[in-house]
Amino acid sequence: MNEILKNDLDNFSSILEEIHKNSISFLNDIGEIPTSHTDQNADFFPLTDGGVGASGALGLFNKHFRKLMVSSAGPRYWGYVVGGVTPAALAGDWLTSVFDQNTQSANGSGDISAIVELQTIRLMIELFGLPDQFNGGFVSGATMSNFTCLGVARQWAGIQSGVDVAREGMTGETVVLAATPHSSVIKSLSMLGFGSNNFIRIKTDPERERIDIIDLEEKLVKFSGKSVIINCSAGTVNTVDFDDFQAISVLKEKYGFWMHVDAAFGAFAACSDKHHHLLKGWENADSITIDCHKWMNVPYDSAIFLTRKKHQKLQMQTYQNSNAPYLGDPKVNFSYLNFLPENSRRFRALPAWFSLTAYGKEGFKWIVENSIHCAEMLTNYLESSANFKLCGVVNLNVVCFALKDYDKTSEFLNILNARGKVFMTPTMLDGHPCMRAAFVNFRTSKEDVDIAIQEMEAVLELINITQ
Ligand SMILES: *Cc1c(COP(=O)(O)O)cnc(C)c1O
Repeated sequence: MNEILKNDLDNFSSILEEIHKNSISFLNDIGEIPTSHTDQNADFFPLTDGGVGASGALGLFNKHFRKLMVSSAGPRYWGYVVGGVTPAALAGDWLTSVFDQNTQSANGSGDISAIVELQTIRLMIELFGLPDQFNGGFVSGATMSNFTCLGVARQWAGIQSGVDVAREGMTGETVVLAATPHSSVIKSLSMLGFGSNNFIRIKTDPERERIDIIDLEEKLVKFSGKSVIINCSAGTVNTVDFDDFQAISVLKEKYGFWMHVDAAFGAFAACSDKHHHLLKGWENADSITIDCHKWMNVPYDSAIFLTRKKHQKLQMQTYQNSNAPYLGDPKVNFSYLNFLPENSRRFRALPAWFSLTAYGKEGFKWIVENSIHCAEMLTNYLESSANFKLCGVVNLNVVCFALKDYDKTSEFLNILNARGKVFMTPTMLDGHPCMRAAFVNFRTSKEDVDIAIQEMEAVLELINITQ
């Protein structure tokens, strides 16, 4: 064996101890570590002939890059929708790499990681109170989940008009409808050959981001005779609006279409009795997207897709790795290889399994309600402030706001973010630039909201806005 590799193998235990110490020091300080760095100059270290061994690599990384890591998993990183990592999820994630399984077949031959993955999907279905009519798997994020689901939807639509799109390619007969699709849905339409321009925008209700049901029905009448796919939202990113899944289900009975629900983070409303009603009717979906690296607080990268069991054949037509005959009959020998886009894949279910098993329904209810409570505290402050105003309505865990002096909003946000204590992202709402704070991290507490408010007030003074 190569000498340095051999040396690393002999010292595996002390290498992992060093990594353990490094990890603990980062995690213990996570509330103090900056949420952003202005210095982003990362030196480049050329590939050497000999290598420096694992400890050497750690030393180099610590010296040059570690200080530039941000606390995106910390309690005041409120940009985008960024979750943290529960202790159990981290434990599962470490073990995923230790075991290094190639998670595919669930027919008992080889390892059982695919069986654990199927069990984890069942646990998630229970967590969300969904019926036992779904099956699913893990992918890298909600983007891949939307892609996976819409790929099956495309196959369904093709078969409706007599074309096996997976074998023969697109026919252009399918109609895709969406009101407030996440950018990743549009990206999926591009990747799937629909074309990102080729969806038809459904109107939204006044002052809302949800589907206008009357407009939807008019479009369904207009396109009757064609195969229709509807992208629904359970939690839009700016105002966390939910479509009326009950009303959409009624139309589905009448007109027959593929109902996809992008519930990347909104699915977690199901964990709270107070908010579960927002999802009423989503159980009638054909496919559902749910992120695990957001509100579930599992580390990157992790999401699931759920598709109805009755669509299993369509799913296998879409993702069958067909020129590999040694797989046997995919209907008998279930394998993720024929069920989703990837072939080789990691045991991504394990961190989620650990977290679900460690914290149960109560744990996730707490995480969800705590986030919503933090959003309420920030909202209360903004409402009482002379300088800020809320943009749109605040639902659940996302707060959009701006300076009353709209023009100064982006300057304010740039300075706020550069100070590194709290991080938010810019967005546009009703044609105005505003800021967005999304609460999903289980670590976030009242103290963090207070620190953020102090920071906001300090920045107001810096840019000479004091009232
Ligand atoms: C975050 C998000 C996505 C994309 O998810 P990734 O995990 O970044 O791939 C899709 N839809 C919604 C509603 C989201 O919030």
